[in-house]
Amino acid sequence: MSAVLAAMPQPRHTEPRDLPHWSEWLAGQLDPYWRADEWNSETNVFAGSVDNPLTAAYYCRVVRCTAMVEAFNSFCSACEYHRRKEKAEGRADFAETHQPGVRHARQIGKSQFTLAPLSATVRTEILYALQQRDQLKVILVPARIRCLTANLPAGLGSLFDLSPGFLASLEKLQSATFRGLMDQLVRARTEHEGSDPTAGDIWDCRLVGLLAGKGREYRATAGTIDFTGLRQAWLREVTKEYGRQVRPTVIELRFTVQAASIASAALVSRPYGDTPGKLQLADMSTVVDAFRTAANPKTRKPYGDKHRRALLGHWRRFLERARLLGLMEAAATVASFAGLLGPPQRARDTRLTRLRLGLAAVVGGRSHAPARATSW
Ligand SMILES: [Zn+2]
Repeated sequence: MSAVLAAMPQPRHTEPRDLPHWSEWLAGQLDPYWRADEWNSETNVFAGSVDNPLTAAYYCRVVRCTAMVEAFNSFCSACEYHRRKEKAEGRADFAETHQPGVRHARQIGKSQFTLAPLSATVRTEILYALQQRDQLKVILVPARIRCLTANLPAGLGSLFDLSPGFLASLEKLQSATFRGLMDQLVRARTEHEGSDPTAGDIWDCRLVGLLAGKGREYRATAGTIDFTGLRQAWLREVTKEYGRQVRPTVIELRFTVQAASIASAALVSRPYGDTPGKLQLADMSTVVDAFRTAANPKTRKPYGDKHRRALLGHWRRFLERARLLGLMEAAATVASFAGLLGPPQRARDTRLTRLRLGLAAVVGGRSHAPARATSW
């Protein structure tokens, strides 16, 4: 057990005086080539391009108008004004025939924002967050940044200096934009301070940086992964270390924790549940029973066969990988359980055969399996 715990990486705490200044550190994380066609680092002005699918910038729906709009297939304010003035709302050919005036055709402000009036730190913070959101494939809406920066108090030193009331003062879209930026900055600050977001028993997804799920190739930015349901310290630490080293997606890790919590609840009733080195096959049969009868803790209804099989699969993969990573040395019997879930082998030990029967009941979906193995 001590070997398992000793393998746990300790939180990396660094004295604040050793840290480079937040602003300097963050500036060092910026991509100097970010959106070279749109961002001007000399003037600190962003001008959205209609050619970038990650920018909400489009030409006005009127064919001859070169004004920019932020919603696809919409009219700029000047063309909209003329459309109403000419009572052309119902005219399908307005977009093709309207001849806009020269003056408004030049307006491009809709797709722009400037960070020039902001302090260097706030500017760096917003730029960093926008760059990170590009990696998440979040479409940049210039007007949202424009409105947000207009709402920031004059002379603000850092977005972290804003009062809690600031978020409440924003309207819905603004507040979503602000939260989206802060999600990136909170994670960056954790990295800057060198603290370990995986040290505790509840992980904040926006800090740990795991991918959201299969087919969702972006970092999860919301929710938590809760290990507190794992009641044995050894199982909790092994599961957390598995999350750190394997770095599964958030969805996979939640499944793994759910599966482990079924095993954990079963081990509570066993005399050596907290002592992995003393666990025997009989304890594993209790775990098998628990999977066979697992119920949704919210509804108390038994899980369906498919879900039960999926949970058992997660438990097996967890055990196999944890064993390969050397995390299960103190719980060799538990680790051997994974092998029993694999392809059939010639089992000379009748206890193993009976354990297989119990497992078959889980995998085969028979809810009333014969022979409760706990009586061995
Ligand atoms: Zn127009």
